[in-house]
Amino acid sequence: MGEFELIARHFKRAVRAGSRRVALGIGDDCALVAPDEGMQLAVTTDMLVEGRHFLSTVAPARLGHKALAVNLSDLAACGAEPIAFTLALALPRADESFLAPFAAGLFALAEAQGVELVGGDTTAGPLNICITAFGQVPRGQALLRDGARAGDDLWVSGRLGDARLALEVFRGEVALDAADFEQVREAMERPQPRVTLGRALRGVATSAIDLSDGLVGDLGHVLAASNVGAVVDADALPRSTVLARQSLALQRQCVLAGGDDYELLFTAPASRRAAIEAAARLVGVPVTRFGQIDAAAGLHVVDRVGQPVEVSWRGFDHFAP
Ligand code: ADP
Ligand code: MG
Repeated sequence: MGEFELIARHFKRAVRAGSRRVALGIGDDCALVAPDEGMQLAVTTDMLVEGRHFLSTVAPARLGHKALAVNLSDLAACGAEPIAFTLALALPRADESFLAPFAAGLFALAEAQGVELVGGDTTAGPLNICITAFGQVPRGQALLRDGARAGDDLWVSGRLGDARLALEVFRGEVALDAADFEQVREAMERPQPRVTLGRALRGVATSAIDLSDGLVGDLGHVLAASNVGAVVDADALPRSTVLARQSLALQRQCVLAGGDDYELLFTAPASRRAAIEAAARLVGVPVTRFGQIDAAAGLHVVDRVGQPVEVSWRGFDHFAP
């Protein structure tokens, strides 16, 4: 199977009939994409490298899902609606038994989210998957990192820490029974981008970020951009029953600094609590309040009774010394 046959067989799909935003998809030198009137284009790229971002044991269908999901999570964090994406692939070989399930996992999520694959690049090389996603957001309404204000509540969607717990099992540091392992492994390998929640938070949240590198590190980006500090109740952070059965130290490490959560962290004034709970109910995603923004710089992590919690882990950084 040559390069062009590979693209035609696995990735070329007809552009959805009547698509206003995608005038031209795969097959020419460029795709032609336009947001609706009054909308800004939101653009994001995320690359997944074997051994760095995923284990070679991951099922190809889950890898296809996750490669797109992590990009849609970035659009969600900005309150953007996904439109289209491109896929740059380096493959060690043209392997049907990898490509067919990979494409199936990718397109299943793409169809569920109404987003079209409009182009890409395919080359031989060590397995590497780079997706660029395009979304749209009403002009001036994107949720950004710099809008948190003193007194705002801190919120997070879903549950944290399961992906990290799964990684600890793969590393041989933790043992779980088969059903528990499958649950946390699913969190690691099939994250659900919070696209509908992100859109529902436009005009309500003051800032937002998606959690990819661990809560403490990612919250740090919001605090720095907004020039504020925060108090976080480590015991208020939402976690699964599987994680809640682990030692408190491991629970805290997983929820505070686990990484790969792909939940939304956002801030909003206390006066908007009812609006946020209503928005979350409407889109069917649980949200939890876990702290408050401070005028003074610095992040203070405390337990349920207000005692400081030692946080010795940092957010994930590929080039950390
Ligand atoms: P060019 O040489 O002009 O860059 P290519 O031969 O690389 O074009 O690609 C041919 C067409 O197939 C283009 O429309 C490109 O966007 C698309 N394409 C290539 N690889 C992929 C891929 N992995 N997924 C989706 N579309 C792809
Ligand atoms: Mg090319």
